[in-house]
Amino acid sequence: MNSSAVTLFRNAVTRIRTGVAAATTQSTNHYTITASYDELLGITAHNADVFAALGIFAAIVLFYCYKTETWSLYKPATKRCLKIPVRVTRNDSGINRRRFLIGALKDLDCSLRKLNSRLFVLRGKPEDVFPKLFKEWNVRKLTYEYDTEPYSLNRDEKVTNLATEHEVTVFYEISHTLYNIEKIIEENGGKPPLTYKRLRAIVQKLGPPKKPISAPHLENMKDVKTPCSEKFEEKYGIPTPEELGLESTSLGEELFPGGEQEALRRLDEHMEKMAWVCSFEKPQTSPNSLSPSTTVLSPYITFGCLSARTFWWRLTEVYQGRKHSDPPVSLHGQLLWREFFYTGSVGINNFNKMEGNPVCIQVDWDTNPEYLAAWREARTGFPFIDAIMTQLRQEGWIHHLARHAVACFLTRGDLWISWEEGQKVFEELLLDGDWALNAGNWQWLSASAFFHQFFRVYSPIAFGKKTDKNGHYIKKYLPVLKKFPPKYIYEPWNAPHSVQHAAGCIVGKDYPHPIVQHKQVSKKNIQRMKEAYAKRSSNNNESPIKEQGVKRKALAVSEMPQKKIRKE
Ligand SMILES: Cc1cc2nc3c(=O)[nH]c(=O)nc-3n(C[C@H](O)[C@H](O)[C@H](O)COP(=O)(O)OP(=O)(O)OC[C@H]3O[C@@H](n4cnc5c(N)ncnc54)[C@H](O)[C@@H]3O)c2cc1C
Repeated sequence: MNSSAVTLFRNAVTRIRTGVAAATTQSTNHYTITASYDELLGITAHNADVFAALGIFAAIVLFYCYKTETWSLYKPATKRCLKIPVRVTRNDSGINRRRFLIGALKDLDCSLRKLNSRLFVLRGKPEDVFPKLFKEWNVRKLTYEYDTEPYSLNRDEKVTNLATEHEVTVFYEISHTLYNIEKIIEENGGKPPLTYKRLRAIVQKLGPPKKPISAPHLENMKDVKTPCSEKFEEKYGIPTPEELGLESTSLGEELFPGGEQEALRRLDEHMEKMAWVCSFEKPQTSPNSLSPSTTVLSPYITFGCLSARTFWWRLTEVYQGRKHSDPPVSLHGQLLWREFFYTGSVGINNFNKMEGNPVCIQVDWDTNPEYLAAWREARTGFPFIDAIMTQLRQEGWIHHLARHAVACFLTRGDLWISWEEGQKVFEELLLDGDWALNAGNWQWLSASAFFHQFFRVYSPIAFGKKTDKNGHYIKKYLPVLKKFPPKYIYEPWNAPHSVQHAAGCIVGKDYPHPIVQHKQVSKKNIQRMKEAYAKRSSNNNESPIKEQGVKRKALAVSEMPQKKIRKE
């Protein structure tokens, strides 16, 4: 960075809407890197004098971790801004997810430009890049958003240590969840609540979540000039699609473009439908409607384009003075499910694994690469399952109950494959892939934890019929079946040969035979689950429902950097 650039930089004082701060004070000659909007707001809100003394400039830092071959962004965040917990693995991360990331970065840069600032993207491993940056930019402060995922805790601890070595002060805020998760655990006697009811009782005691802080305007940015050298794009530019291994030929229509602007547009669109919001009951929504029957705000929350708190308070406004549904089925209730699984992920060891996870039933899952591949590649021969898996691969989002159907099918329902395998596939393909939510929901669906009614199995034939008896959804995603009459669309193998012939699709040739006999295997699997539960009871002499996570005391925010890092 040249000296004139530095001077210009020093004149910049502001906060910005989209998540990356841009500011320095005239009187100081140091810089603070921040990767989060809320953190800055947090500092201004909670510690205005510190903020006033800070020199802050725009930077989001993207790292490529060579060892794990993953990309991660250090450490954008939160409310109305980009949070990239993504570890977009170069080779196997879904293309939709990578495209979403690029879109979100572009949107962020675009918003920053409107506020006379820029987004800086840096490449490299945190341990290599940060020390250089601290020196080169004379960094004195570093802010980030607290992230509870073990990978992130580990990374943040390393970076914090490096910062300390370089006399850089580190600030962070908790804003990715509605509440400070550690506080919920503390209120529950040091253990994560294992039922939604309990979680709800605790958050009711804590009161409503913090309100989001309003976004800054151009006025706040009057004197801002972010220095950009001629080599800016080369050095700090947003990764190109090619850099992230995206070939335009392999990309379908972009139904959910990344970025805050689209997140807020989507949020507004839904909040305008007040009657819909007030009467929202999740179980009444459809897994197989042709356009989504829920909000599809999850990718935006996952990436930090939309804050869960903003969503919460917008809902509160809509509910005000109106009769409305309640948790667990309401939209507020959905956000509390998110909180529930986050709390579990913080308080339960090895949350994304079966072994070593104290609340997870130990099941003798089969290893069956053929079945797993058939499920992943939409070749099970069950049209409802295959249509869902096709939608997932093509579009990156599927309805919650569709997730139920395919997750149950892969695990305890039909294929008897570990939920950990399903978790990996979802992580790769979902736009909203989130470490805590993915692991928690997979445990739920496989009846491994939280939910224990393993005898309630989704039928891959009957379930979809309830909301789409003519199979329009199947026809959309599996055009090979589009000429089948409604009577056979969910079970084409039962269609007489003449019907198959007329539909131009012969089962076994143009579309696979069902991979298993659902009725038989599901009965057998219920029995196997029963045995796993019995074993658990005899080992522990207690019901898994009563099983508790690791007892812990909440850390004060100031203590968190020293928090013990759990291994992935
Ligand atoms: C096997 C399985 C894996 C899942 N993996 C993920 C994941 O990786 N990331 C993810 O965001 N969700 C995951 N979910 C939860 C849920 O399916 C999605 O959050 C939801 O479908 C997103 O769509 P939406 O935004 O339209 O939800 P809406 O119904 O509009 O709900 C609003 C918001 O509430 C939150 N929410 C809703 N349901 C849940 C839930 N069950 N658990 C946690 N949060 C919830 C989401 O942030 C969502 O955006 C998973 C569910 C299952 C069954």
